[in-house]
Amino acid sequence: MSVEPDGQREGGVVMVWSASTRYEVEPAPVGLALVHDLLNTISAGRPRAADLLDSLSDAQAWVDQALDCWARERGQVAAQVPLTESDLEELRGLRAELRRLLASRDEDGMDTDDRTVAPAVHVAAAAVRMDRTGRAVLEPRGQGWRYVAALVLLEVFQAQQADAWRRLKICRNTRCTTAFFDRSRNNSGVWHSTKTCGNPENLRAHRARQRVRGSGV
Ligand SMILES: [Zn+2]
Repeated sequence: MSVEPDGQREGGVVMVWSASTRYEVEPAPVGLALVHDLLNTISAGRPRAADLLDSLSDAQAWVDQALDCWARERGQVAAQVPLTESDLEELRGLRAELRRLLASRDEDGMDTDDRTVAPAVHVAAAAVRMDRTGRAVLEPRGQGWRYVAALVLLEVFQAQQADAWRRLKICRNTRCTTAFFDRSRNNSGVWHSTKTCGNPENLRAHRARQRVRGSGV
């Protein structure tokens, strides 16, 4: 189910993926939209939008809204996750790590083997439980950033199982870096918007970088 930009729920509270919507990108499908939205909490776009994980009040507002949206996508009850100042740095660290991993992919969206830096380890706990239909389900555990990280990594895990992970990308325009979900048939997209970022200047710079990479310099 996709979320309409003007999505509403009872009581008139607007239900949108607040970070991705700012950059006018369509959220990734179902629960993966949570990961997508976390990636887009960064300050990007023109004019620069705020970093939603910069202050505790902004971060709490983002987490509340994102967990609400996630719960709706997954048909679950949204958890209340109060954050403290110390959670912010951890969430920003997780975001930076995920963005770095996505940005280091090759043209086909596949992970490159020649990484010089191993991913920082983010440990989050999950429990396995049988639901009423006898299906084994993974549930996040922990409080504050740990709960959010567990939920995010569970969605990464599921997207990797479903081969949707390689479609989540960072715009190749270095002045943009908006995260987008590539819905193209052959997963060949490199810009979040070909209109604003796929212009000739960016294309030239992108090809020059590819040449440098290809020549092994
Ligand atoms: Zn872009």
